[in-house]
Amino acid sequence: MSTTQRSESIKAFFDGYVGPKTPLKKFVGDYDNALMRMVENERLSDFGSYNKMFPLITLRSIEHQLQAIYTNEKFKEVQEEFRVFMMCLPSLLKCECAISKYEVIDRVRVNGDFTKEVKYCVYFNDTECEAKCTCRLFEFRGIMCRHALIVLTLVKDVKDLPSKYIHD
Ligand SMILES: [Zn+2]
Repeated sequence: MSTTQRSESIKAFFDGYVGPKTPLKKFVGDYDNALMRMVENERLSDFGSYNKMFPLITLRSIEHQLQAIYTNEKFKEVQEEFRVFMMCLPSLLKCECAISKYEVIDRVRVNGDFTKEVKYCVYFNDTECEAKCTCRLFEFRGIMCRHALIVLTLVKDVKDLPSKYIHD
């Protein structure tokens, strides 16, 4: 920051509080007021960004549920999974008692436009409403992967994600 820029920002800081003829006692009081105003502005801007909602991509109730629970940062991460989950193609491989096994073909983008098909397995337990994917994103990052999300939302039409899938 140049000397001119610095003196401009100091001037802006005191703007409306201190003039060239302000006595020292008044200056100290005005300095406190200006400082308080700056702190309050910062607090309001933090509050504004905390409450900023990212628009929903899928309009599925699980995405809505996670938007309400997660911080913006965490929600952005899981929303990335929602953004690409339509690239996944799930098909039922077998069903035994309450457990269904799905193969999910994911088209992973490599080198720009070129995509590669990768197969994952999602096991869904109807009784527990539990989905486990072989990509293990949930175990590593604490968020549901697109493969489990597509089985939960589009195949099983689950409306509420069980609390065990929502990490702090
Ligand atoms: Zn997965």
